[in-house]
Amino acid sequence: MLNSLFLKKNSCFICQAQTKSFICSHCKKELDFYQNLRGRCNFKEFNLHFTTPYYQNYKKVLWDLKFGKKTGLAKGMAYLMLEAYFKKNSEIPELLGYVPMGILKEKQRGFNQSKLLADELGKLLNKKTIDLLKRKNNISLYLSKNIDRHLLVKNSMSIKTVVGKKSILIVDDVMTTGATIREIIRILTVNGYNELSFLLFARQENKENLESWFT
Ligand SMILES: [Zn+2]
Repeated sequence: MLNSLFLKKNSCFICQAQTKSFICSHCKKELDFYQNLRGRCNFKEFNLHFTTPYYQNYKKVLWDLKFGKKTGLAKGMAYLMLEAYFKKNSEIPELLGYVPMGILKEKQRGFNQSKLLADELGKLLNKKTIDLLKRKNNISLYLSKNIDRHLLVKNSMSIKTVVGKKSILIVDDVMTTGATIREIIRILTVNGYNELSFLLFARQENKENLESWFT
C-alpha cells in the first residue's frame, strides 16, 4: 500500500539501499528504536513529537530537501512524521501550522521546508495549513553562534492569523535547542491558544547519545 503512494524505485527512501519497501529494514529498525526512546517529550504541558534523530541518512534527507532543493522529498518525510505522531497520539488536530522563516531567507531558498512538510501532512490528514505566525525580523541563527539563542529568538515572531480556539499542530523540520519552540509556545499562549502540539522531522541529539544508541 505504501509503495503505491510513492514512486516505486526499489530503493529505501532514507538510505537508498535496495529494498521493495518504502524504507529498508535497517532504517525502519533505527526509526522504531528512536521513536520508542524519544518519540515524544512534554514541555510545559505541550507535546513535542519527533520522527528521527538529526543524524546520518536522516540528516541527509533533510539536507537534500533544504539545500538540494529536492522538494519532492517532503511527501515521504511527511508520511514518516505522521506515523511517528500516531504512535504516541490518537487525536487529529483541527489545523496545521508551521514555523515561519524570515522573508529574506525564504526568498533566497524559494520555499519554507516547514511549510512544505505541513502542507503534505495536511494532504494526508485532509486538514488546512494556516499562516499562524510571522517572523518580525531576519535574525540569522547561523551568524550568531556566540549569542544566546533564547535571547535572539525572544520576540522574534508575531501572530499573523487569528483562528480562535482550535487544536493546532505546529510543524517544523528540525529542533536544535528548542528556543524557537519555546518562543512559539510563549507567543501563542499569551494570545490564548492552549491546544498546541508540535511535530518535527528531526531532533538534534548530542554526540554521546547518538553513539550509544546507534553504534
Ligand atoms: Zn534504508
